[in-house]
Amino acid sequence: MRRKIVAGNWKLNTTLQEGVKLALSLNELVGKGVPENVQVIVAPPFTHLTEVRKVIGNKTGLAAQNCSAQKSGAFTGEVSAEMIKSAGAGYVIVGHSERRNYFNESDLDLSSKVINAIESGLQPIFCCGEKLHEREKSIYTEVIKKQVHLGLFDLDAEHFKKVIIAYEPVWAIGTGKNATPEQAQEIHQYIRHLIEEQYNSDMADNTTILYGGSCKPSNAREIFSKDDVDGGLIGGASLSADDFYSIINSF
Ligand code: PEP
Repeated sequence: MRRKIVAGNWKLNTTLQEGVKLALSLNELVGKGVPENVQVIVAPPFTHLTEVRKVIGNKTGLAAQNCSAQKSGAFTGEVSAEMIKSAGAGYVIVGHSERRNYFNESDLDLSSKVINAIESGLQPIFCCGEKLHEREKSIYTEVIKKQVHLGLFDLDAEHFKKVIIAYEPVWAIGTGKNATPEQAQEIHQYIRHLIEEQYNSDMADNTTILYGGSCKPSNAREIFSKDDVDGGLIGGASLSADDFYSIINSF
């Protein structure tokens, strides 16, 4: 059975103290139980990783929000996948649209980040998704195909097994406007089809594909009920332990 995941992306929010408090509140709720086969993950800022690791139980996964395309050396301000792993994380978000769009991260950079992450023992949560004008022009499948091909499909099958994909339509992120469950299902099924073409049907069946974009307690249940939707990457709503826990319990 495919693993379900609910991952919270805290983005550029919370001081260290606020982050630890949020993690403690979440940990208390998660301690009451989560649905079977659901992996909970939190992605705080880099500075919080080690402290958050100490307060979330070992059942909750820890992710960084980005990693360097470089392994080490004279790259001031960068944080490598290996450093993230050594801070106690097991996952890293790669290719979030905010990184692609505000920091001009290219498909080539993202491919290097994915490889570095896997070689360092992290599971990448690879984000893809179209912008509003691309959806309006009905070229969204081409956009996603290109992102997935260039970012992921250089991986051999053993490496690809570590990948988690998040479909995040850019027009739905932080806008309050979520994709409909049918729109999410269409793209998740399409991504699975791309994986089958590139690898095989087992790989397509076993890859966890998350939906992200204004997912909240009021819409998560309907979105997660779709066959090819295996959970969510949650931004704004993950900053409230209660809302995030309610989303976790939407399966
Ligand atoms: C995200 O940042 O990945 C995201 C989906 O944000 P939000 O839930 O706030 O739209």
